[in-house]
Amino acid sequence: MPCGAPTLDPRGRHHLCTCGAPLLARYDLGRARAWSRESLAGREPNMWRYRELLPLFDGEAPVTLGEGFTPLFHARSLGASIGLDRLFIKDESLNPTNSFKARGQSAAITRAKYLGATTIALPTAGNAGNAASAYSAAAGLACEVFIPKDAKRPFVDECRLYGANVTLVDGLITDAGRMAAERGGPLGWYDVSTLKEPYRIEGKKTMAYELAEQLQWTWPDWIVYPTGGGTGMVGMWKAFDELERIGWMNGRRPRMVSVQAEHCAPIVRAFQQGTEKAEPWEGATTIADGLRVPRAIGDFLILRAVRESGGTALAVSDRSMVDGMLAIGAHEGVSAAPEGGAALVAIQRLVADGVMKRQESVVLFNTGGALKYLDVLR
Ligand SMILES: *Cc1c(COP(=O)(O)O)cnc(C)c1O
Repeated sequence: MPCGAPTLDPRGRHHLCTCGAPLLARYDLGRARAWSRESLAGREPNMWRYRELLPLFDGEAPVTLGEGFTPLFHARSLGASIGLDRLFIKDESLNPTNSFKARGQSAAITRAKYLGATTIALPTAGNAGNAASAYSAAAGLACEVFIPKDAKRPFVDECRLYGANVTLVDGLITDAGRMAAERGGPLGWYDVSTLKEPYRIEGKKTMAYELAEQLQWTWPDWIVYPTGGGTGMVGMWKAFDELERIGWMNGRRPRMVSVQAEHCAPIVRAFQQGTEKAEPWEGATTIADGLRVPRAIGDFLILRAVRESGGTALAVSDRSMVDGMLAIGAHEGVSAAPEGGAALVAIQRLVADGVMKRQESVVLFNTGGALKYLDVLR
């Protein structure tokens, strides 16, 4: 624990550290050195193929809907159109419930189940709520979702499809979070808010494990990632460290690019100002629901990953995100959420500015699919 608090027992229920910071899961990496890359051959194509470094005790079975091991496409046509020979799309839209949020909820709800939780609760902009609802159903647990009332309709409906109880909140995701905690605290609900329990990030980190495996154990030069709460960035950074320590990967880590929306860019502003933490963003608005996070509890971890990797952070307009969605769709036949569109716009700008070079390998994370956002095309 960076604050000096003692290590906690993983068989207990933990949310935040006593100092208020997120908790991270640690493994016996010395023991994990005996685990070999070759052992992966023949394992099921989902994220639990890396179970040696995921939060499962011997004899436990994960709550799974087949999440992870999403394809990594070489986007030749899209790459050529913007001046890159090696542009890849990691297509997270192909996860259950259409976004990479499935990975985090699979891990968090697996642990919640074994810790004896009966009700899962969370605030959400949409995708996390859909994933939590689905995995709660798969685990046989109840689910309470708190969602801003201006959220897109398909997100609300899909929570109900999986039997969750939905509360519409007059405010932002931060207000929804407050309400979930106030209602659920006394009732013992298990809170799976972003980084308020240690296991969602464990699911998210598998994106980096897969990338390494799919690129034959080499790192790309760049990873471009649309950032809201930051679990994806923080999770992948943690995975780099683990993969190095167990001896599976070495060499220069990818440069991490954090992409945000012009009218909700707390991480970009903090990156530019050189601060360690990010001030909350006032009046956050964007069509990319996953990016509408005015205050990220793991802000300092995101900023650390971006800086230590030699990466950068940049904000793009809502209008340009839609153009990005259309370009990804038309060139590659891939269904991209505005967040994925935002990542493309950031890449275009970095290529135009000469920061990214034609021959460098670039991975665009398409964190979710377009279907729940199709209203933005109108
Ligand atoms: C939640 C979400 C994000 C942001 O994710 P973090 O890793 O928490 O920053 C990006 N894109 C989509 C589609 C999302 O649902």
